[in-house]
Amino acid sequence: MHVVLLGPPGAGKGTQARRLAARLSLPHLSTGDMLRQQVRDRTVFGRRAAALIEAGRLVPDALITSVVRGRLREPDTADGALLDGFPRTAFQAKALDLILSEVGASLCAAFEFTVDEDEVVRRISGRHICRRDNGHIFHLRTAPPRVAGLCDHCGGELHQRADDVPAKVRHRLAVFRAESAPLSAYYASAGLLRTIDATRPADEVTDRLIAVLGPAPAAGGGPR
Ligand code: AMP
Repeated sequence: MHVVLLGPPGAGKGTQARRLAARLSLPHLSTGDMLRQQVRDRTVFGRRAAALIEAGRLVPDALITSVVRGRLREPDTADGALLDGFPRTAFQAKALDLILSEVGASLCAAFEFTVDEDEVVRRISGRHICRRDNGHIFHLRTAPPRVAGLCDHCGGELHQRADDVPAKVRHRLAVFRAESAPLSAYYASAGLLRTIDATRPADEVTDRLIAVLGPAPAAGGGPR
């Protein structure tokens, strides 16, 4: 059950991928999280990616594709994975098809999260994220933590991403429109696209995703 989550920044892909990962026992592959970890670890790759991420630009296709190829060869992804933030370009979409065929898998659905840009800016400007590995996401207005500045789940410190400030968000949206939005047509023509109204409450979005995917792979689930 390899699933792609498409949509602009702030559409709720990360939140939903984390929920689906728990419900379906599948790994959540967020290329943004993987890249930020490399930046924190100061790897060669992380040092190359840092400035691009902070500017809201995409890292080169070949680099991110090699990271994803490595991850999709690991045994924990053999039964499926929730791909959040990848693919983001036509090159990456084609590369993903190739990578999955190399490991004897194929995509079962591509969910397109739809939300208008004003809502994206509102959501991202209030988004605060746990610094610890679990990466839980809060929103100062709509989903505030019980204790200001601290994660409800682990007590970790919350912070705002450097690329979540309004000017960077606008740039990321422009990149999304130019590079990533056309992917919907790619997956529609493959018969894999499912549109999700991401303005609905988070629980409702999760229920809709589960309804399409089925409760768990072992229960014979699959897109309907
Ligand atoms: P995200 O956490 O998905 O919003 O990603 C944060 C940043 O990481 C993006 O703005 C890009 O700079 C970089 N990034 C994440 N995924 C990709 C990807 N598939 N291709 C290129 N750059 C990416």
